[in-house]
Amino acid sequence: MPIYEYKCNTCKKEFETLVLGSDIPACPGCDSKDLSRLLSKCGFISKSTGSGGESQVTTSAASSACGSCTAGSCSSCGVG
Ligand SMILES: [Zn+2]
Repeated sequence: MPIYEYKCNTCKKEFETLVLGSDIPACPGCDSKDLSRLLSKCGFISKSTGSGGESQVTTSAASSACGSCTAGSCSSCGVG
């Protein structure tokens, strides 16, 4: 099902809608057709790993593994 995500340029409302063929959707808020199509969430599966943005969990109970690391590569708990 071709569900696209749009943002209305008039009222800045973001919404998802089903688009059939060359159908042009209208904003459910203000009925404007001045829309920008956003990237679908389905095509946005990219997880950044180890770029410094991940949260690090510090636990004193588990001394051998911090619970959030993969084996052999954890700088927070010292495994490896
Ligand atoms: Zn609108």
